[in-house]
Amino acid sequence: MAEPIVTVAALNKWYGDFHVLRDISLDVARGERIVICGPSGSGKSTLIRCINALEEFQEGSIIVDGIELGPSLRTVDEVRREVGMVFQSFNLFPHLTVLENCTLAPIWVRNIPKKDAEATAMKYLERVRIPDKAHKFPGQISGGQQQRVAIARALSMNPKVMLFDEPTSALDPEMVKEVLDTMVDLAEEGMTMMVVTHEMGFAKQVADRVVFMDAGQIIEANTPAEFFANPQHARTKLFLGQIL
Ligand code: ADP
Ligand code: MG
Repeated sequence: MAEPIVTVAALNKWYGDFHVLRDISLDVARGERIVICGPSGSGKSTLIRCINALEEFQEGSIIVDGIELGPSLRTVDEVRREVGMVFQSFNLFPHLTVLENCTLAPIWVRNIPKKDAEATAMKYLERVRIPDKAHKFPGQISGGQQQRVAIARALSMNPKVMLFDEPTSALDPEMVKEVLDTMVDLAEEGMTMMVVTHEMGFAKQVADRVVFMDAGQIIEANTPAEFFANPQHARTKLFLGQIL
């Protein structure tokens, strides 16, 4: 494999006495799309949050685009510049317009002039197909539109990797497709993506690899074709039996 953009090596994390991530090792190639699935409580969010430095870990290493995540705040800032994150619950600022949500970090974190930040944000709002909502507030648009704003907001920082944590789980069913379609577009443009989701149609369509986690461990990782046709472990079979 060419130099990976994300390297997670022998990662271990505890919440107090609870061993939440157990010896996780995972390399992500540039442009690779990884879907992470597994039962509730298996550590998927914790893993994703470690990669974006939202959580500390005790053992092992995480390297993103050559930057090793350590205890220093400088590397935390550097890594966050490289990594965009989209959460289940959108996390938009309700008192800011859609456009302001997308320009806040570029202006205040990156010191980009307001006009330039707005032009970039509009470009991404067009990409997620809601430029007409730029001057609305989050409460005035649908959940699916809010999640597309969250994607545009993350893209406005020009990340090299996009992390998604169950981006469609909080949506009404009729809004799931518009968000997945946006993510498929992004994948087709070559974005490196790590996506926690149980949308197995998305995994089949887009993923290069599906990673299955259970009880803090990676149980297996395989191409979607192999993963769905020939799951190797009893726990994977059980999980697929429950969700498919
Ligand atoms: P998943 O995203 O796969 O559902 P999580 O990563 O959210 O799993 O959580 C993994 C386990 O860690 C769960 O048992 C959860 O209860 C526990 N956990 C998550 N966050 C915390 C925390 N801040 N403190 C203690 N335990 C936590
Ligand atoms: Mg989770």
